[in-house]
Amino acid sequence: MKKNNNIINKEKEITRGIVVSHGVSMGKALVLTSDIPYVPKYSIMRSQIAHELDRLEEAIQKTKQDIRTIKKKAESEIISANLNYFDAHLLMLDDPVLQTQIKTDIHNSLLNIEAIVDNALNAIAKKMSSMDNEYFKERVADVRDIQKRVLFHLLGKKQIDIQSLAEDVIIVSHDLTVSQTANMDRRHVKGFITEVGGKTSHTAIFARALELPAIVGISDIRSEFKDGDYIIIDANHGKIIANPTVKNIKLYETAKHVYERFIKKLSFLNQLPAESTDHHKINLNANIEILDEIDSTKTHGAEGIGLFRSEFIFLESIDLPSEERQFEVYKEVLTRMNNMPVVIRTIDLGGDKLTKEHEAYQESNPFLGWRSIRYCLSKPEIFRTQLRALLRASVYGKLEIMFPMISGVDELLMVKEFVEMVKNDLRKEKIEFNNDIKMGIMIEVPSAALSADALAPHVDFFSIGTNDLIQYTLAVDRGNEKVSYLYNSLHPAVLRLIKMTISAGESHNIPVEMCGEMAGNPINSVLLIGLGLKELSMSSVFIPEVKKVIRSSSYIEAKKLADEILALGNVDKIEKHLMTFMRTHFPYLIDKIMS
Ligand code: PEP
Ligand code: MG
Repeated sequence: MKKNNNIINKEKEITRGIVVSHGVSMGKALVLTSDIPYVPKYSIMRSQIAHELDRLEEAIQKTKQDIRTIKKKAESEIISANLNYFDAHLLMLDDPVLQTQIKTDIHNSLLNIEAIVDNALNAIAKKMSSMDNEYFKERVADVRDIQKRVLFHLLGKKQIDIQSLAEDVIIVSHDLTVSQTANMDRRHVKGFITEVGGKTSHTAIFARALELPAIVGISDIRSEFKDGDYIIIDANHGKIIANPTVKNIKLYETAKHVYERFIKKLSFLNQLPAESTDHHKINLNANIEILDEIDSTKTHGAEGIGLFRSEFIFLESIDLPSEERQFEVYKEVLTRMNNMPVVIRTIDLGGDKLTKEHEAYQESNPFLGWRSIRYCLSKPEIFRTQLRALLRASVYGKLEIMFPMISGVDELLMVKEFVEMVKNDLRKEKIEFNNDIKMGIMIEVPSAALSADALAPHVDFFSIGTNDLIQYTLAVDRGNEKVSYLYNSLHPAVLRLIKMTISAGESHNIPVEMCGEMAGNPINSVLLIGLGLKELSMSSVFIPEVKKVIRSSSYIEAKKLADEILALGNVDKIEKHLMTFMRTHFPYLIDKIMS
């Protein structure tokens, strides 16, 4: 390990926050500052105008250089990107109307150049977002990007590009957007610490996918570190240690190796079925976000992919991925999974997974708004492109298509009609696809769970998305740490909706899977199989432990436990009952949670 000067500072231990991804890791802190920097405003003398304009010219040249460097990197790495995006940014910086506006403003108001630029670009962004024109609305995010870059240079701040890092870092940030997470330099980012977020926020899900330790929801954490501070994240015990002593560094390096060995040790389970002691078989599948995770689904013993969050293809690329690009991705998953079932979910954008278009639109309730299937139905071109790519790929393996956030039968029928239209187009074009492809829906909105019996005749399977089902049932934002104490998968209302969905599936003879994070917590495994679930899908890392619990459980006992729990009316009683059962049968699990 490289010698680090900061380790002689005083050691500090922080135990606040919510662990969202386990593991131990260490590296230098990379503290990300907020989006648009604070812009000071002060008066200048007329004689200073020329100097202020020179400063602006210098900042513009530096910004242009940044954009050219990013464009070069994108050209070498991103096959599908529309690189015109960068040229549009460069053109904006040379816009003569904007430059004249800035010169007039500085002469009239005699304010510093940062304040002038900030005002001018705020006015442009405001005007564009109020226009009744989708194209201009979508460009607002570009204006904001330029505004941020120029201001950073004017203020002499360093803008950190987490897409290409030179050394191992732990990111310390207020929040990370899903596209920041998807695009970061995976070789060097060793963990995340954020001020906001919850266990099922998409950044947390991504941290688990990449097997990076992460702790979120630690208010004001950025004020406690500076760039370069050496940090240890022990996400197995919810601890962050800044400026550790040499003794502690050694101790945690050992802890890291012990944990890695423990994970490896569970790998003997990979080839064994997830079957209870009384021979009740459960299918354990993997949730994936990116193609890099495919190998890990196999090394952890997944029997298929239960959820491929296809929106990450969109979040990783700069522009909309073409039909051909998507087809290649879907074909690759199917081919690499060797005829194992692969459930690809159509894009679930919106909520906290924002495209530039969503950022520009700025909804007041994004999780209740233009998200997921609603977004797809309002964007027929995007939806059609994805469905064509999926159907064309369906001949390469066992593909099943899943639609997210369905809220009722009418919406589902619209989706099915749309799929038929796309199938007809392909037939006319004589393009091959699997006509019997299975199509299912996510049950993640209470209205869908409550009408599961009406939805069931129209689909081939259900998959329960507890991450959203909990947030919508309990009215608790899944990413808000202030209300995270209310976000509980064991709330009786949630358990009853899960049970209703399973019963509707049983009476209509369609399989019901669970793919929300609840499925990956081994504490829940006995309860979930007792409720009647036969398929669980989770981040690959959780499969071995869940399998271990299932292989030591009796299905008869699991059913009894589920009945007892369903009869209880509040979270406290349910948690106590479940913990007592698990403590008796799986004391090692409880010790692990409590340690
Ligand atoms: C869910 O809501 O449980 C789910 C699996 O979907 P996502 O986490 O992507 O919203
Ligand atoms: Mg969801």
